[in-house]
Amino acid sequence: MVSKYVTLYSTTHGWSSVEQMSAMLNFTELTRTVAATYLLSQGVGADFIYQFLEALTRANYGQDMDKIHALEGLASLAAGGAVTAVGGNFQIFAAFLDRSNATVHLNTTVTRLQKDRNGWKLDVEDTQAPGNFRTTKSFDAVIVAAPHNSTNISFPSSSAEVCPVPYVHLHVTLFATTSPSPSPAYFNVTDGSSISRSIFTSAEGRRHGGPDPDFNSMGYLQQVSPDREEWVVKIFSKKRIEDDWLEGIFGKGKVGWVLRHEVGVSNLLLPMVDKVAVGCLPRLIAYHELFTNGTRRWSLLRQRLRNVRESFQLAHSR
Ligand SMILES: Cc1cc2nc3c(=O)[nH]c(=O)nc-3n(C[C@H](O)[C@H](O)[C@H](O)COP(=O)(O)OP(=O)(O)OC[C@H]3O[C@@H](n4cnc5c(N)ncnc54)[C@H](O)[C@@H]3O)c2cc1C
Repeated sequence: MVSKYVTLYSTTHGWSSVEQMSAMLNFTELTRTVAATYLLSQGVGADFIYQFLEALTRANYGQDMDKIHALEGLASLAAGGAVTAVGGNFQIFAAFLDRSNATVHLNTTVTRLQKDRNGWKLDVEDTQAPGNFRTTKSFDAVIVAAPHNSTNISFPSSSAEVCPVPYVHLHVTLFATTSPSPSPAYFNVTDGSSISRSIFTSAEGRRHGGPDPDFNSMGYLQQVSPDREEWVVKIFSKKRIEDDWLEGIFGKGKVGWVLRHEVGVSNLLLPMVDKVAVGCLPRLIAYHELFTNGTRRWSLLRQRLRNVRESFQLAHSR
């Protein structure tokens, strides 16, 4: 999969749509199938999928193997050999901007986009200027490179409707602890047992009627300094992690500073049909019904939707 993906960087290909590119990479079927269903069909064991691989999709995307589409499920397994630029990856993008000689307007929010005979007009707001200075700027072409639903830009009514993209909301808790590992008692093992400093969870308990795990992943990131018995730990969880809970696992008086952050960590990567996540399909089908009078394309879409639903059922039918 990775070797196919890197062909994207070849200059000999060109695509006029995401679907075309996806088809060239043989990804279309993968984005239409639930990850667990796909892997079961390839002979991978259910326990391996739901107890091991799911730990990775939950850690990377906050999503379970019986929901996430197969392309992203497989992408979760491809993290080997990951590298980072010394000093931070942001430098790559800063260098793109520097070398392009583009004029960069920081702290500038686009509030409205309008089209006229000469091109595009952008209403912008300088958020740092006194009184939030507002102005209108003209451009020949505009590329909106931000999550459409959260830009709060007023788009022209003639522009195509964009289906809302649901995000997975996660809590990130970063804290310092003097405890060298989590408490064995929390994991129901005898005192003195060795507990890993990297812990991942699966949704297997919940699927069999139990509660959701308290967190998706927990990891000791680094020691504060070589001469100090204190570590920085990060937890990703669906719910807010309270101070009491941290002290219960790491020990009373053993938790120092705590930093909490909530993020829309990834869009909900449900199987898609014709670019649209299944949740948006009823709207899309209504649109096609209206504009194509129930032509072949519409029945094709319904068939694909049926296939995706079957894919969900198979993931849950073991
Ligand atoms: C916790 C977390 C961990 C992640 N880990 C990884 C990882 O390990 N590997 C990986 O590949 N990806 C990871 N991602 C995903 C990755 O960060 C995103 O896919 C990537 O940043 C998307 O880039 P983008 O340029 O499309 O959009 P963004 O980075 O979202 O940039 C959009 C920009 O538009 C600006 N903007 C929005 N509205 C307006 C407006 N009205 N006017 C002006 N400007 C506006 C925003 O301020 C922002 O700067 C992670 C994401 C999160 C949240």
